[in-house]
Amino acid sequence: MPITTLERLPTASRPTWAEIHLDRLARNFRAIRARVGESVKICAVIKAEAYGHGAVAVARSLESVGADWFGVAAVEEAIALREAGIVRPILCFGVTRGQEALVLEYRLTPVVFDAAQIERLDACARAHQAVLDVHLEVDTGMGRTGVPLRELEAALRAFERFRHVRLDGLMTHLAAADDPAQAEFTRTQIARFHEVVRALEARGFHPTYRHLANSAGVRAYPEAWGNLVRPGGLLYGLWSGPRPSSRAEIVLETPMGEYALQPVLSLHTRIVFLKEVEAGTPLGYGSTFVTARRSRIATLPIGYHDGYRRALSDRGRVLVRGRFAPVVGRVSMDWTLVDVTDIPDARVGDEVILIGQADGQGITAEELAELCGTISYEITCGISARVPRVLVSASGSALG
Ligand SMILES: *Cc1c(COP(=O)(O)O)cnc(C)c1O
Repeated sequence: MPITTLERLPTASRPTWAEIHLDRLARNFRAIRARVGESVKICAVIKAEAYGHGAVAVARSLESVGADWFGVAAVEEAIALREAGIVRPILCFGVTRGQEALVLEYRLTPVVFDAAQIERLDACARAHQAVLDVHLEVDTGMGRTGVPLRELEAALRAFERFRHVRLDGLMTHLAAADDPAQAEFTRTQIARFHEVVRALEARGFHPTYRHLANSAGVRAYPEAWGNLVRPGGLLYGLWSGPRPSSRAEIVLETPMGEYALQPVLSLHTRIVFLKEVEAGTPLGYGSTFVTARRSRIATLPIGYHDGYRRALSDRGRVLVRGRFAPVVGRVSMDWTLVDVTDIPDARVGDEVILIGQADGQGITAEELAELCGTISYEITCGISARVPRVLVSASGSALG
């Protein structure tokens, strides 16, 4: 089910919501622009509902600050963007068999990586009396999608044979550019890609776009920029890999100086129930937590169905009135308990921050990811459709 991006928290919903800070999204985008310069186009990757932020709202916002392309995983994601009025080119990484007519109807640019797929798209374009631009993905080391290098020849023969598909772009995907320990492997991928570019040119193919760089490539490998980059995580202020330095923030070098990326999403709820319990009181499923002292326990209307992961049971922490309160007991499907004994002024109705900043304190998606043994992308992608997304234009001011 697609996420509904709501401009305002509907009065019918629980007091649990995610704020999407569009001002920070725009600032992150401008920093990426400053880093790569004006001659490199930017394909903003907004697959998976823009990593859980809401694809339509993010696309509208990025279109207005100059995103050149959008990247999505699936044709149905691209269709939703077109139906919402997005007009920029959309690169679709995963077109599957049977979706060829939709690609033409919605003016999408498919990524192709096998000869049979090229043939099907050609047949469909011919039937529409059109010539379809496609981007060919080569596998230089990711081992996922992409034509294996030894099968490149068959793909090129397909382009020579079929007249209704045109090679508009050549791309590859970097597997480990976020890990400095694997820099050598990344450089090998980049070198293989440049070899493919030369091989294509020798055969008379001159694709308009040559692109390799995801967020990590944008941050650390200028030689991987080609003339188009495909950042996802950086746009949202998220990082996928090991911390590139001991600094808390992810920093981009730009000609105007260093820029620390800003997390675009924050996750909020409110205390709906507050009680005092005696020492020795078990809390939650499995009674995994037993109070060691007389305690004040707050109940929050958020749980793992919302994407507040069960792995945070007895381990996570939230912010109440600018102070940390630990998660106690198991996170359940719809409810989470936190210990506010040390925040005596906490009240029913108080706002609680699960991801975000308040009073100089913060909880990042990366922190939750580490506790859950995953990456920040999975945390924000996992915030479910039950959680309304509230668009915020500048700190505190909701749009709508
Ligand atoms: C997801 C994806 C990206 C963006 O990756 P980030 O790490 O979020 O920057 C770029 N290209 C392709 C093909 C992808 O699948």
